[in-house]
Amino acid sequence: MSAEVVKVSADNPQRESLQRAGEIIRRGGLVAFPTETVYGLGGNALDPEASRRIYAAKGRPSDNPLIVHIADIKSLEAITVELPEEARKLAKACWPGPLTMILKKTPQVPPETTGGLDSVAVRFPSHPVALMLIEEAGGFVAAPSANASGRPSPTTAAHVWEDLGQSIDMILDAGPVQIGLESTIVDLTSDPPTILRPGYYSLGMLRSILPDVRMDPGLPESDPLLHPKAPGMKYRHYAPRAELTIIEGDRSAVVQTIRSRSEQMAARGKKVGILSSQETADQYPAGLVLCVGSLAREETIARQLYDCLRSFDARGVDVIYSESFHTPLMGEAIMNRLLKAAGHRVDYAVSPGD
Ligand code: AMP
Ligand code: MG
Repeated sequence: MSAEVVKVSADNPQRESLQRAGEIIRRGGLVAFPTETVYGLGGNALDPEASRRIYAAKGRPSDNPLIVHIADIKSLEAITVELPEEARKLAKACWPGPLTMILKKTPQVPPETTGGLDSVAVRFPSHPVALMLIEEAGGFVAAPSANASGRPSPTTAAHVWEDLGQSIDMILDAGPVQIGLESTIVDLTSDPPTILRPGYYSLGMLRSILPDVRMDPGLPESDPLLHPKAPGMKYRHYAPRAELTIIEGDRSAVVQTIRSRSEQMAARGKKVGILSSQETADQYPAGLVLCVGSLAREETIARQLYDCLRSFDARGVDVIYSESFHTPLMGEAIMNRLLKAAGHRVDYAVSPGD
């Protein structure tokens, strides 16, 4: 099976195309669609068979639960119980938008969708195509990121085609996404509410709504004193095929270290890629470096990170050295994904004279 690719307008989606896409989902099929964060792979969240197909298409372990996407607030009440006051506050402040809440589920949501858990992850996205599709599909669309499990999430329809073009029914192409990193996930079944995955909404922003929200202590980057090379949490995710190492430290020392490592690797016959900010890109050999975006405009880094990781694969690179991007708001989320892509491989640049 080859997916049909249908171009749609991002701002003003064509109802007829979306009706067709919705019909595919109602009948148990799978449609990839844009959201403001990344492209999602949508199936009917209330149909256990559709959820099974999502896991199979992605090659995702079936105990890793899916996010259920809704297109109006009433739908939240239909699939959750014991809605805490905090959830209402977050919904009011952040929805529609890049926030996912974990809540207790009703029996209407099958265990296949939630990986057997009695909680459900719910998101009300803001992208007009996502909203119209959810409506046309019956109101509850389970959608993980539309990549093959373990690969960088797709931020364009071409990325989806690369990974899933032969295993799903349709891809709605509305151009590149706006944010580029997955939603912030907040668990509201725990006390205090806990951020399980950082995203566009940072800890600081969420604390202005819920003062006692905390970062999951299980996230290694939640503790700045915890050395990222600490054992544990060694899994890779969002990962390019090449071995990726993040170089931390003073900016000029980082540039020096990446340049000398790259030379050493090239001398050993390895194909090297360098991921840098716009601010330092001209200090690396032009044929090796990809500029991910500007530190002064952090949204550009978030938007292009996954595309850069995929581009290194397309170039057939063996090793990648990346600068770190600790930007003020989205730095948490950017570094969370970059660390996972690197399998937590981090080295520290030493300045001459240290
Ligand atoms: P993705 O679908 O690729 O955006 O990933 C969804 C993320 O949400 C995964 O990391 C899941 O483990 C997480 N998730 C979904 N549902 C739940 C839940 N009920 N409890 C905890 N985490 C969840
Ligand atoms: Mg994913």
